[in-house]
Amino acid sequence: MSTISPYISATGDPLAQLDDQPVQLVESTEAIACPLCHAWDRHPWGAENGFEAVKCLQCGLVYVTPRPKLGEISEANKIGEHRTAEGSLNVVYRRSARKIRHYRHIVKLMFGPELDAGVPLSWLDVGAGYGEMIEAVAGVLPQGSRIEGIEPMQPKVDRARALNLPVSNTPLAAMERRFDVVSLINVFSHLPDFDAFLADLRRVMNDGAVLFIETGNGGDLTTSADYPDRLYLPDHLVFAGVDHVSQFLQRNGFDVSGVHSLRLDTLGWMAKNIAKRVMGRDAKLSVPLSSPFRTVFFKARLQPRKN
Ligand SMILES: [Zn+2]
Repeated sequence: MSTISPYISATGDPLAQLDDQPVQLVESTEAIACPLCHAWDRHPWGAENGFEAVKCLQCGLVYVTPRPKLGEISEANKIGEHRTAEGSLNVVYRRSARKIRHYRHIVKLMFGPELDAGVPLSWLDVGAGYGEMIEAVAGVLPQGSRIEGIEPMQPKVDRARALNLPVSNTPLAAMERRFDVVSLINVFSHLPDFDAFLADLRRVMNDGAVLFIETGNGGDLTTSADYPDRLYLPDHLVFAGVDHVSQFLQRNGFDVSGVHSLRLDTLGWMAKNIAKRVMGRDAKLSVPLSSPFRTVFFKARLQPRKN
């Protein structure tokens, strides 16, 4: 049985899926078991755009089911693109110095020993977007370090390159070099199969390399009412909590060595959302410092390969 949904599929080359490209409705979806524990029992958690996110009754992971069939989830979608209901991409970007400072602060906080050692590092940012993380990292890594970002959306690559940031549209599968650090900033929720993705990532990681992840703790929320933004279903397919991400990492050969949670519902956040509302844009309003939502940074080290 297929369900017609408002989900907009990429037709052919995902990079060509821009404003003036024809779009089509996805008709093929599939019901799936929990991607973490493989149980089928679940209860409703949230809904949007004709899709439902459910919470696993066994492990608590939140995931979309039925979801678009794997062949309809493009690489661009997988690593971080949000489309509008009209199927066009919003590529308007203003470089945010505040965001870059924020990431620089987090990297200093979580990579103290590596930065203090002064040994050059190679760092790959997967789903680099407009290059904010690349720019942040470039300011703090030891001299001689090599930093690179990959991003499937050409307009974002173009923006980053215009700022002289080393971002390319090379697919992960085509990367040949190995790195000391790989970062995944707000990419996790887009990935239909995190186990398979981690297997791909391991290929580009040196022994003992570090994986640095940021994702929201949606899987720790009882209901989507506590989620601070639109859910972006089905571009977002999985919402994990802190333990869920740790379990995925551990069973794929990573040792979690650091977790840092930050709340988003600050006074500044509220002011920004009020401003968005005033401009007629979509934004949730809530009492500051009351939300259980956190954005969470994970640092995990790849265990040495056995062979
Ligand atoms: Zn589960």
